[in-house]
Amino acid sequence: MAQLETAVRNEVSNQNAGNEVGSEQLYQKCMALAQNLWWCWHPEVANIFRDIDPIRWRQLDHNPIALLREFTPERLAIRASEMVLHSRVNYAYRRLQEYLDGQNTWASTQAGVLGAKPVAYFSAEFGMHESIPIYSGGLGVLSGDHIKSASGLGVPLIGIGLYYTQGYFKQHLDEDGYQREEYIETKVENLPIVPALGSDGLPITVTIDTRNGRLMAKVWLMNVGRIKLYLLDCNVEGNKPEDRELTSRLYGGDERTRIRQELVLGVGGVKALRALGIYPGVYHLNEGHSAFAALEVMRERMHDDGQTFDNALREVARSTVFTTHTPVPAGHDRFDALMIEEHLGPLRDQLGISAEHLMSLGRVHPDDHSETFCMTVLALKLSRRANAVSQLHGHISRRMWQPLWPDRTEEEIPIGHITNGVHIQSWLAWQMQQLYDRHFPAGWQSRMGEPEVWQYIHRVDPGELWETHNALKNLLISFVRRRVSRQSRRRGEADDIIEAARNLLDPNVLTIGFGRRFATYKRANLLVSQVDRIAELLSSSSRPIQIVYAGKAHPKDEPGKRFIQEIANLRHDSTFKGKIAFIEDYDINVCRHLIQGVDVWLNNPRRPLEASGTSGQKVVLNGGLNCSILDGWWAEAYDGRNGFAIGKGYSHSNDAITDKRDAEYLFQVIEQEVIPTFYDRDRDGLPRKWIKMMMNSISTLAWRFSAHRMVMDYTRHAYVPAAGGLSCDMPFHG
Ligand SMILES: *Cc1c(COP(=O)(O)O)cnc(C)c1O
Repeated sequence: MAQLETAVRNEVSNQNAGNEVGSEQLYQKCMALAQNLWWCWHPEVANIFRDIDPIRWRQLDHNPIALLREFTPERLAIRASEMVLHSRVNYAYRRLQEYLDGQNTWASTQAGVLGAKPVAYFSAEFGMHESIPIYSGGLGVLSGDHIKSASGLGVPLIGIGLYYTQGYFKQHLDEDGYQREEYIETKVENLPIVPALGSDGLPITVTIDTRNGRLMAKVWLMNVGRIKLYLLDCNVEGNKPEDRELTSRLYGGDERTRIRQELVLGVGGVKALRALGIYPGVYHLNEGHSAFAALEVMRERMHDDGQTFDNALREVARSTVFTTHTPVPAGHDRFDALMIEEHLGPLRDQLGISAEHLMSLGRVHPDDHSETFCMTVLALKLSRRANAVSQLHGHISRRMWQPLWPDRTEEEIPIGHITNGVHIQSWLAWQMQQLYDRHFPAGWQSRMGEPEVWQYIHRVDPGELWETHNALKNLLISFVRRRVSRQSRRRGEADDIIEAARNLLDPNVLTIGFGRRFATYKRANLLVSQVDRIAELLSSSSRPIQIVYAGKAHPKDEPGKRFIQEIANLRHDSTFKGKIAFIEDYDINVCRHLIQGVDVWLNNPRRPLEASGTSGQKVVLNGGLNCSILDGWWAEAYDGRNGFAIGKGYSHSNDAITDKRDAEYLFQVIEQEVIPTFYDRDRDGLPRKWIKMMMNSISTLAWRFSAHRMVMDYTRHAYVPAAGGLSCDMPFHG
């Protein structure tokens, strides 16, 4: 603090200088801050950009580069003087430099071996901020959180992904509540990316041969704190017109688009690393999409070191870590033999194996000619360390893939688990961070993965915690009103409907949030499946509830779209009016508002289909309570005092029976536990028991389900042993 004050004083005395050099310098510093995503997990830096022009900031999706490009250095300097921004900019800039230069990181003492042998982390999507639309949902946000925490911990890691010019779709609902998808071309000059340069100082292009021609990709570099993220982009001259579009959309297109994207990510990704002069000691395949990478590394070993195929496979597997995310067999990418031969043929020639042999690497039963090529199977065969993303998902994965190891028992299947976590600074509300700053030990932010730190929440005055939570809840309600009235305006609805949207929801009412993909197994409609019962809860005069929904359905998922329609159209029903809201275009921004402001976060997937789930972990940090099926992370998190459980954690093979029974459990817990606890107030109007649960939730869960803990687990149990060439193939359990 004292440091800041000194900085402010010095700056104020410099400010009058206000000459051209000064404005140019200020502009450059702002741009430098905008060019490293470090800013997006530092609210005090994001607030500098907001203060430059709050309205444009919001309209531009909180994109600081787009904002700054609307200013000349002179105009920015004038605005900065009005808002007294100079010192804040200088201070933030200095902190960023210190951060980038920092040597005393967790990894410098715990993971020294990775210094010379960094980790290459492959993922098909990275979700870091709403202004960079190269993610669709949970998997992407997890990758983003992973590299942010790797940055914080100083883990030598390089991200590899794809650059999607149009990203994932923007969602609008039409008058019938039906989802419409719109793809928007992102302006590259508004993104914090630059062409990646090779050791010769020239931009890199990689080429990949297929049986029907050559694919090329250029490479972009994005700085995420200390981490470099390289993104491959097929929109280059020399590619066939259809190939220039190959990486334009995330999860768009058919099976052919998919295998070609995966070829670029995996094989192209390894080639890009080489062109950059990077020789990783560990390859981490986040989900099976990038598994071709391991084949390309094998090819190199055979070509460069003259190794045999078998030796190369053994060595590559030793340094490969694979994380599986999908508990449903149908969720794993599969390709037929023709598709594989067309795309992997030239690589196969160099590996010196037959088409049959290559196919067998992607099959559970190598000799079964009817079996297609599965990316997960390839990844499992080419990695010595594989893990699922929660304890329960570990069990499910071991059972699912047991046929790959026919002579082992389920417990002996070499798939462990490391439970997912979230990057705390990205999801923690600024107001809540202020509260933690006041009550937690100094320097707590560098010890977020330690349980002791979070025990201090029990020393906080219950009234103060409740007030902070309510301030955030009010922000959420303003956000919902703003967005819903904007949605109404866009649909051209009547003035009274737009006006009604401005008064939507009541800050004193128990607010339940549900934001996630509208995949049918997540059962967004479970709560409205018993219409009379939910109507009664919503319209209770003494202890009402209200619900905010958000989420996209995959463009090809008709049942998912009908769920959205069913929920969105409830707003026309007089019983639900003003008490249920659907926010369009669920993204990181919408998610952040929801998880920071809800009282209760509802999660009711069909068990055991939620591999982990992470949105509920974000809620914890901000004082919301989870009410969830005992699936994914919640199955290992819930202890009876830190939130609510729906049902008892059983699975049933019949979906109709499961859904009916779970709906019953859901109403039971809401009617008998959630509502009574929330409305049980003391003389000061405080819900003491509820606040105690908030504290239990924060103290028992925040550190455990943080991405810092997750990345430390990966480093200790997977990266360091893999880089050291340790050949243990025991499953590791986080
Ligand atoms: C955190 C997050 C998710 C993950 O949500 P789960 O349903 O809990 O897996 C998805 N989408 C966005 C935008 C997120 O921020």
